[in-house]
Amino acid sequence: MRPVIALVGRPNVGKSTLFNQLTRSRDALVADFPGLTRDRKYGEGRSGDRDFIVIDTGGLTGDEHGIDAPMANQSMAAMEEADVILLLVDAREGLNSADELMVEALRRRGKAFHLVVNKLDGLDASVATGDFYRLGVSHLHGIAASQGRGVRALIDEVLSQVPDDGSAEALAERENRIRVAVVGRPNVGKSTLVNRLLGEERVVVYDQPGTTRDSIYIDFERDERAYTLIDTAGIRRRKNIREVVEKFSIVKTLQAVDDAHVVVLLVDAHEGLVDQDMHLLGHCIEAGRGLVIAINKWDGLDPDTRDQIKNELSRRLQFAEYADTHFISALHGTGVGHLYRSIDAAHQSATRKLNTNQLTRILEDAVGSHAPPMVNGRRIKLRYAHAGGRNPPLIVIHGTQTDSIPASYQRFLEKAFTRELKLVGTPVRIEFRSGE
Ligand code: GDP
Ligand code: GDP
Repeated sequence: MRPVIALVGRPNVGKSTLFNQLTRSRDALVADFPGLTRDRKYGEGRSGDRDFIVIDTGGLTGDEHGIDAPMANQSMAAMEEADVILLLVDAREGLNSADELMVEALRRRGKAFHLVVNKLDGLDASVATGDFYRLGVSHLHGIAASQGRGVRALIDEVLSQVPDDGSAEALAERENRIRVAVVGRPNVGKSTLVNRLLGEERVVVYDQPGTTRDSIYIDFERDERAYTLIDTAGIRRRKNIREVVEKFSIVKTLQAVDDAHVVVLLVDAHEGLVDQDMHLLGHCIEAGRGLVIAINKWDGLDPDTRDQIKNELSRRLQFAEYADTHFISALHGTGVGHLYRSIDAAHQSATRKLNTNQLTRILEDAVGSHAPPMVNGRRIKLRYAHAGGRNPPLIVIHGTQTDSIPASYQRFLEKAFTRELKLVGTPVRIEFRSGE
């Protein structure tokens, strides 16, 4: 994981100026994720070959009262996410009582931090910083953020104290994360669900320019498992570009599905399954992704309506029978925790390593119980199977005359593999190869 650096301090000490310096060469990120980033701004930076994430906490108004006051909620939350905290102070104003309170608050919380004395340009550095040594902090740096002076040295010093994951390892780590996309039509409750799913988990928000346009990627851990949530809902929050947004959101949703291990398809119980839901579902199945269906807004429905909806679903979702279906209320949180069970199971099934001997044995048993048909007076022979890929699991079967295998027999085999391998939440694909 890239280290996370949080910038805190009173208003006007230069946090956003430093933020811009640190993220200058790259695009600043996600600022508008409701409920999560309110007053926080996330960016990514690089120094040498080390990547990091910066959070500008903004947030503090200076009007807060009491000893914890300078550490308003947003700053506290950002600091929880951070590996390193930079407390900025203004050299031109000298030591301020609010600065002292912040140092105290940080100390009480046992958070490691660096004191950064900003706006040293045109000042005698040793005189200007002298005042601040009274705070007795172990790491003090002088910079002039607006000129970029001292910024590189500061960041290198800060990074040298955070262990380097090594980029290859970090990459593998990313690959090991369970990537979950939450998709659905507008207003089905995606943002509500995303906020629920994250709850109090430790999260890092960033986007991935060029891969999934405008989706928000959120890393978090739960029960020792690492997830990346791909949130497609964020874009609708933008104002004044509604039409563009509607078109885009389709593309974005499709991309998110492609980039996910497991898709949570959200449906609005009040509206039932509409065409758009079915299109999305079709795409999820075509893409072969792990799939969990969540019927949202289950709260406040009378028993008759619930039965009616359940009947309709079981009729229309037959072709997606491998997916677990949950009835939830994102708003109240009912049933949301159970989604994780299905997500984990689908991920496990979709990415598991399959064993050649076992696959061939399952094939033999299936063929033994129900032989393939005769074609041109000769019986189709299926000899052995091996794994051809994951997510979705691909099983390659070698035999003769495989071009003539009827679709119904292919489905029979798919079912046999799904059952015997105990696959859940994922489709299985079969590819036939002929050769005498
Ligand atoms: P924030 O409220 O902490 O995010 O502070 P800003 O980054 O918005 O900066 C507040 C003001 O201080 C702006 O007018 C900046 O141009 C100015 N400022 C920031 N860094 C420096 C610096 O290194 N030297 C000087 N002289 N002014 C600075
Ligand atoms: P999105 O467009 O898919 O991100 O949907 P939102 O999360 O913005 O939700 C759309 C509306 O549905 C909001 O008014 C939510 O409060 C409401 N909503 C979301 N989940 C539920 C739920 O479980 N029950 C009810 N009754 N309303 C919900």
